[in-house]
Amino acid sequence: MSIYKPVIGLEVHVELNTKSKMFCSCSADYFGKAPNTHTCPVCLGLPGALPYANKEAIRKCIQIGLALNCTISEDSLFERKNYFYPDLAKGFQISQLRWPLCVGGEIEVESDFGEKSLIRINRVHQEEDTGKLSHLGGVTLIDFNRSGVPLVEIVTEPDFTDSSQIRDYAKKLQQIFRYLGVSNADMEKGDMRLEANVSVREVKSEEGRGTDFELPNYRVELKNINSFRFIVAAVEFEIKRQINALEAGEKLHQETRGWDEDKKETYLQRSKEEANDYRYFPEPDLPGIKNQELRIKEIQDGLPELPSARIKKYIDQYGISKTTAETLVADESLAELFDGAVKLGLEENVPVKEVANYLVNSPTLASHLKGGKLNISPDEIVQAVKEKKSGKIEDEGELEKIAQEVISENEKSVNDYKSGKESAIMALVGGVMRKTSGKANAIRVKQILERLLL
Ligand code: ADP
Ligand code: MG
Ligand code: ZN
Repeated sequence: MSIYKPVIGLEVHVELNTKSKMFCSCSADYFGKAPNTHTCPVCLGLPGALPYANKEAIRKCIQIGLALNCTISEDSLFERKNYFYPDLAKGFQISQLRWPLCVGGEIEVESDFGEKSLIRINRVHQEEDTGKLSHLGGVTLIDFNRSGVPLVEIVTEPDFTDSSQIRDYAKKLQQIFRYLGVSNADMEKGDMRLEANVSVREVKSEEGRGTDFELPNYRVELKNINSFRFIVAAVEFEIKRQINALEAGEKLHQETRGWDEDKKETYLQRSKEEANDYRYFPEPDLPGIKNQELRIKEIQDGLPELPSARIKKYIDQYGISKTTAETLVADESLAELFDGAVKLGLEENVPVKEVANYLVNSPTLASHLKGGKLNISPDEIVQAVKEKKSGKIEDEGELEKIAQEVISENEKSVNDYKSGKESAIMALVGGVMRKTSGKANAIRVKQILERLLL
């Protein structure tokens, strides 16, 4: 029996949240808007209409490239990718093939087994989205509101060997998009779309690790999968299907497959014989993009602190566990809240670790969530942690029982207090605090004692 290893490359599309579209001034904020209300001759692909490039989109594309450690091309160019489909009125998509904005990056991913590996980024390029088709009974409707919305494509080298790396990669990209503020990257809304290219190769026993092996001469492209869970399931299914086929002596071919969630299997959509030839050529209506060093440096300097750096800081500087750090960083608003509370807490000697633990404790988080937003201030967090530290036994009955015990064991202090020596009550408070090993709120204890001694 042979050993097979998966070879997987990922293509991720992300829609940018710019105000206007990629090549015209129509609003790019199309979600939920009445069909065909955000259109003009450019994004409707009318003959003679001239495109002009959206600077903000290009800037955001470069930000993504820099976040993925890419080199930004000094000279970049748009090209026409020609094909026919009803959602593409021009008959071509403006995209980039030979002169993409960003090339050659890398990102670290971690598998479910805790194994870390570097995934090489082949390119990050700028393109435009197509219109949207809706198939209703016997008719198909076209909405061009999405046509021309800025789209960035991120292509990896075929470096993934395991589906859990894919999930980690996709999550990390999503976090990066959100931290950069370039996209909401909502999978359900189609802001972020994943495609996986999967093949398997036979491994000879003497082979070491590394990436310099011969790629299989076919690949299966898994398309139109709109959730992290489905892409992982589809990749896993596909790996098994391909290994079984090879074991049975079949020859595998280049093809496109979709995911059937009901049957939990992939199905053939298009085979190689129908493969496209896009006949890319330079877009004659748009000038090349010059990226001077100074401009790239300015964009680099303006990048926010990214999730990976933040996780590292939390672990190294605050001594927080990796899981806790990852939970805090996964949501930027949570990380912001944490930073705010840490800053405030330091002034009051509240340990950073306790602030972190308080925040990631899921019942705590859940109780502060309102409409998907965290509804608590750094100050409230610090107070909550301080109260917890003083132990606050929530159960009044329990506190009262202990207070009663202390009263019966300290006749002298009780008599002193009753005869007017108010400070004598502090000896009783001390008694309760000792019995609860400091886990009671002293002010509350004093109130309970005062009531019992009335
Ligand atoms: P295309 O432009 O036709 O989509 P690319 O060469 O750009 O093709 O590759 C697309 C994706 O497929 C990349 O992520 C790449 O890493 C991946 N890929 C290429 N060859 C293989 C292979 N043999 N098995 C798995 N993935 C592959
Ligand atoms: Mg492709
Ligand atoms: Zn337009």
